[in-house]
Amino acid sequence: MTTTPTILPRSEHTVSRKQIDESTLKVLYRLHGSGFKAYLVGGGVRDLLLGRKPKDFDVGTDATPGQVKKLFRNCFLVGRRFRLAHVRFGSEVVEVATFRRRAEADDLPENPDDHQHFAENVFGTPEEDASRRDFTVNALFYDIASFSIIDYVGGLEDLRLKRLRVIGDPLERFTEDPVRMLRALEFAARLDFTLDAEARSAIYRRAPLIAEAAPARIREELMELFRHRVAGKVLRSAHDLGLLTHLLAGYDGDAATFALLDAVDTRTAAGTPIDEAFAIAALYLARFLRICPRDTPGVNEALHLAGLTLAPHCSYFHIASGTRHQARELLLGAFRLCRGPGQRGERRFLQHPSSKQALELLTLWASTSGEHGNIVAAWQALLAGEKAPVTTDSAAGERPAKKSRRRRRRKPRLAAPSAPPPH
Ligand code: ATP
Ligand code: MG
Repeated sequence: MTTTPTILPRSEHTVSRKQIDESTLKVLYRLHGSGFKAYLVGGGVRDLLLGRKPKDFDVGTDATPGQVKKLFRNCFLVGRRFRLAHVRFGSEVVEVATFRRRAEADDLPENPDDHQHFAENVFGTPEEDASRRDFTVNALFYDIASFSIIDYVGGLEDLRLKRLRVIGDPLERFTEDPVRMLRALEFAARLDFTLDAEARSAIYRRAPLIAEAAPARIREELMELFRHRVAGKVLRSAHDLGLLTHLLAGYDGDAATFALLDAVDTRTAAGTPIDEAFAIAALYLARFLRICPRDTPGVNEALHLAGLTLAPHCSYFHIASGTRHQARELLLGAFRLCRGPGQRGERRFLQHPSSKQALELLTLWASTSGEHGNIVAAWQALLAGEKAPVTTDSAAGERPAKKSRRRRRRKPRLAAPSAPPPH
């Protein structure tokens, strides 16, 4: 199979070498100077053509990883599944991948255990490399030899039409790698492109397959959604297309959650970095507040319910215990805040490092759900050093925040607080 690519000469596009970082240019020039093909590939070309700042630059070449290693002293081969050359310049790394093609069934070695590794490492032509990629706009090449853009898959046309299109048959490509379904929604949202109708219907039809993808990959793509401030948008479309429930171990989200995630995305866009515990707590806050309303007796009961709410997600995605603990603290914090100022142990609670974040989360929730607005205002006033007006939400039937109970006076301590307890 050979197709003549569309080639856009330098005079007909806006990508200039000034926009490409120095280390990447060095790698491109050295490869080209040694007689190899040297292309800028993937998201970097797409973003430059769209006038956006690329996150990173990847290089594609017909040199094998071994040949790349010989060309650069500062080069390391990495990755078992997908063998890559990393060329280091100080703390910077330029990733160089040899052109690959999709492996045919009869290319595969006899031992099925070797298939995955092998299938990812069959070298190919630039054209084959373009067609093994996921979306047309992710398969454009910038050739350092001629400064032209090379397009084998119609990506330039799709960029112009702001359309995200899968390369090849979407049903087949999603079966081959179900994570592409999530990536399709992610790129459509990030680039503000329309997802091609054929891809949408293929997602609907292949949705259950995503449950078979490696949880670690889904977890990483999920965090990418939050980092790129499209979590609300993408998870809402994943819900509409029947993908979400297979993605999140049976949890299907709801309108209130998607609205909260939009607010979290806005917060990230405004410059607050997003961490995984906050993202997880935001995903499950609506569900938690439903099963643990503010009149739930006792903080221990609430803590237990927070743990139960998060358990399926955390065990499915193997979330580390520190992050799991932090997410649970955020839910518990939101619960405690919902009860309003004036509860026992308030001072200690407010000193807890996660309480500030819990209040941020509850503030976002109040702004999107319309619930607990007065209570949030009371907390903010209290933390700003003003006297807290003890108020409750106007909704009928809500329990008023407890007035502080009279404390039993503590026995005077005999020992200094740091001394060990008496035996
Ligand atoms: P960004 O880095 O801005 O998120 P990107 O397009 O560079 O976007 P990466 O995840 O860095 O995305 O992947 C680099 C390139 O590798 C993609 O542009 C695409 O061509 C290819 N690619 C990545 N994941 C897949 C996949 N699952 N199937 C096919 N091709 C893929
Ligand atoms: Mg990238």
